[in-house]
Amino acid sequence: QATLSLSKEDVAAKTKKHPCYDCSACSSGSARMHLPVAPACNIQCNYCTRDFDCPNESRPGVTSGVLSPEEAVAKYLKVKEKVPNLSVVGIAGPGDVLANFEQVKATLEGIRKVDPDVTFCVSTNGLMLPFYANDLLKLGVSHLTVTLNAVDENIGAKIYKHVNYLGKRYTGVEGARILRDNQLTGIRYLVGKGMVIKINIVMLKGINDAHIETVVQTVRDLGCEITNIMQLIPVKGSAFEDMELVSNKELMEKRKACSVIMKQMYHCKQCRADAIGTLDNDVSIQFREEEEKKEE
Ligand code: SF4
Ligand code: SF4
Repeated sequence: QATLSLSKEDVAAKTKKHPCYDCSACSSGSARMHLPVAPACNIQCNYCTRDFDCPNESRPGVTSGVLSPEEAVAKYLKVKEKVPNLSVVGIAGPGDVLANFEQVKATLEGIRKVDPDVTFCVSTNGLMLPFYANDLLKLGVSHLTVTLNAVDENIGAKIYKHVNYLGKRYTGVEGARILRDNQLTGIRYLVGKGMVIKINIVMLKGINDAHIETVVQTVRDLGCEITNIMQLIPVKGSAFEDMELVSNKELMEKRKACSVIMKQMYHCKQCRADAIGTLDNDVSIQFREEEEKKEE
């Protein structure tokens, strides 16, 4: 067992400076950077092809080059020098953080050595959360995003093609149940340890749209901080490529209905897995151009 080595007050102060959790931090110019150090994934969502960044937290149709932990730490130092108000380091893919735990651990340990204060924020599908929860606490990860599209395994079975778990591939209701159980177990445990948790929900017309309030109620009861109901951005070649999308109006109405249950995120930009800067001004392209020039 482990605990977060931060006081409640310290975590609250970090939340206030996290542009995704606090709208005022977003407008006052707090910046975050994503480090793409996690290429593999352990499940198959029907809205993903794995050719691009994980659409659970990132903009689909975009590919971020994967960095080694050493490259990631070097990039962090460079970005810290050039981007004022950098308050958060996030890892959001391009696959799943907990399917690449050794790379994630080496990256965060390397950054902690050079910066004792920056906030660590990671994003996962939650399958391996019960296994790595203590490690995340030990690393000082204070903010976590879990994508949780359904708590009903019959609905989950329509969203997940398969789940690779402890050496075996599970499909249908069985796979969805394992994923859901591990997500909820991990979330419950980490909320109890003081971690601040955001839940991403991809709104899928005719599949989980009528079920979202139940998901939101469930995670509110577990003590999560905020839910981020997101539009599906169709990925070519995925099973949901031709799915009818919910309209912006339907999305906003769902968020509004859920705001009665708990705090909602309205300003998610569905960023790249290598995004850098404020949510309104992604400067990652400048750093990519520098890297490309060096390679030439
Ligand atoms: Fe794709 Fe992310 Fe789902 Fe993995 S968790 S299949 S990377 S959307
Ligand atoms: Fe924040 Fe949304 Fe971007 Fe994630 S994808 S860093 S939640 S704005």
